[in-house]
Amino acid sequence: MDIKTLANRGVLGLHPYQPGKPVEELERELGITDIVKLASNENPLGLSPKAKQAIGDAVSDLTRYPDANGFYLKQKLAERWSVTPEQVTLGNGSNEVLEILFRTFVSPDSEVIFDKHAFIVYALLTQSIGATAVAIPSKEWGHDLDAMLAAITDKTRLVCIANPNNPTGTFLQPEAIEAFLAKVPESVMVVLDEAYFEYVDAEQRADTHLWLSRFPNLIVSRTFSKAYGLAGLRVGYALTSVEMADLLNRVREPFNCNSLALAAATAVLDDEVYLAEGIALNKAEMARFEAYFDERKLPYIPSVGNFITVEVGEAGAIYEALLRQGVIVRPIAGYGMPNHLRVSIGTAEENTRFMAAMDVVLAER
Ligand SMILES: *Cc1c(COP(=O)(O)O)cnc(C)c1O
Repeated sequence: MDIKTLANRGVLGLHPYQPGKPVEELERELGITDIVKLASNENPLGLSPKAKQAIGDAVSDLTRYPDANGFYLKQKLAERWSVTPEQVTLGNGSNEVLEILFRTFVSPDSEVIFDKHAFIVYALLTQSIGATAVAIPSKEWGHDLDAMLAAITDKTRLVCIANPNNPTGTFLQPEAIEAFLAKVPESVMVVLDEAYFEYVDAEQRADTHLWLSRFPNLIVSRTFSKAYGLAGLRVGYALTSVEMADLLNRVREPFNCNSLALAAATAVLDDEVYLAEGIALNKAEMARFEAYFDERKLPYIPSVGNFITVEVGEAGAIYEALLRQGVIVRPIAGYGMPNHLRVSIGTAEENTRFMAAMDVVLAER
């Protein structure tokens, strides 16, 4: 018997998520050790000292199951965002928050709306359930909220909005999202995926979590993987109404956040210095990337995240050539962008390495 015939509808159409190439893999391939990886939008500063301390302290308790309710982390997040702990759902990365959300609301006969160049996990989750993906063409690489609204049907269960979006780095003005939410039927869930929330200037962004009382169908999703530098530990969270959190928690696997992750995330929320340092570095280095691409006449999409997406022509070939220079960036053909590369903003030194490597590659062309 062919086991494939037994898989759930949608599974055969899936392709595994393509992560950035691991440093160790390229080291083995090239036989060199000073690889620079600017491919997964990670925090280049390394672990926060407060998080490190908390992880060390938590190690002695690893024989025990983690706190299934994440009491301290939820309490801290609730304080930080002026919600109640009952409005917080923790996930194994915000990726799992999305998965829980899909499992809660999306069935094979549902439609899910997202932008054509949005974070690819929305498409993967839709496909894995066997639901129908409604991918909306972008407007200047950003989400077209009017078109998304117009695409809503009786079957629409969920609309996914990444703000800022990955891999384009585009940003929707909060007023536009607020107006959108006011028009979406309450029976349609809207997830606002804010994985890069912290990188957006405070004057530019809105406290979207304060909209929850007005929009019971809203899910605000955030993560510790990017600005808080805990990508390897996997912690993200959803802020929602109490009723919504109650549903998500029924689906959530009880021990989905491990003890080290809970301890580190709770501690890093107090590390304002680390957060500010990372944001300042990102801002300064983003300006350097823009100047560099301007000088080389390479068109880029202005980004408010910790990465920048640049048009280079044959991106696959440039990606390979950069690898040979020991620099890993991210090809995004899988996002329908075969001419672009996404480059994460690293330390000043790493970014200089990228620019030097890019100059070599451009000269070879
Ligand atoms: C990185 C990212 C996430 C998920 O990251 P986790 O590590 O799972 O928290 C979610 N959404 C977007 C848009 C991202 O870029």
